[in-house]
Amino acid sequence: VQEKADYHIHTELCHHASGAMEEYVREALEKGFDEIGFADHAPGAPEYDPDHRMTITQFPDYINDIHQLRDKFADIDIKIGIETDFYPGFEPFLENLLRSGSIDYVIGSVHFIQEESIFHWNRPVTSKNMEIQLIRQYFEEMRQGIRSGLVDVVGHMDLVKWIFPDAGKDIFDAGIEVLESISQEELILELNTSGLRNRPGEFYPCEDLLKITYELGIPVCLGSDAHEPQNVGANFPEAVELLNNIGYRQKQRWKGKIITYLPES
Ligand SMILES: [Zn+2]
Ligand SMILES: [Zn+2]
Repeated sequence: VQEKADYHIHTELCHHASGAMEEYVREALEKGFDEIGFADHAPGAPEYDPDHRMTITQFPDYINDIHQLRDKFADIDIKIGIETDFYPGFEPFLENLLRSGSIDYVIGSVHFIQEESIFHWNRPVTSKNMEIQLIRQYFEEMRQGIRSGLVDVVGHMDLVKWIFPDAGKDIFDAGIEVLESISQEELILELNTSGLRNRPGEFYPCEDLLKITYELGIPVCLGSDAHEPQNVGANFPEAVELLNNIGYRQKQRWKGKIITYLPES
């Protein structure tokens, strides 16, 4: 089993990442990775957030580019992933993509609440009640996506803390229900290191949720969420240390797809 793998890497096709795909691969090789996966923002329904993703007509180019990189770089396994948004009605478009048969794994994530971007949130939240309701809505959308049967990995699961940094308890309580769904559906949870480099200042998910993840026996994979080449594999040593401290050890390729850490058996 490979030693180092980063499964959450973006490309310029999403309009908010920089650097050629080849630069991401070279960075991974330099950092000693033997496996990576591109997981750029998947095309969605025609009206759905076109500014932050490739178009459906660009999708075959994305696949072709990765195939060419595979041919060019023999020392590293390059997987074809995609990061889909969970939003009402996302399923038919994703099914269509999956029908091409070229995708190795799918990360599912929530980036919007009530059509407002979490990263660019500037809607007033006027009461604790409203805050709790928004948090619940975020996680409910995630649970619906998890139950779709179309994804393998749940991405940056407590991203909502970006908006509500002081709502740790409410996020934890609602997050546990999501972890139970992940366990039921036998999906993988992503330990996403980008939170460390951004406003939350900690991993997605937080350590307390990761401990529940462990107790539920959920496999975990690592993702940098790199939007520029230098961030491939960023903060992975700290992530592995955290996993080890919690009890994650053994590595296994989950359902033949990607490398995960499993609770010590
Ligand atoms: Zn992005
Ligand atoms: Zn994301």
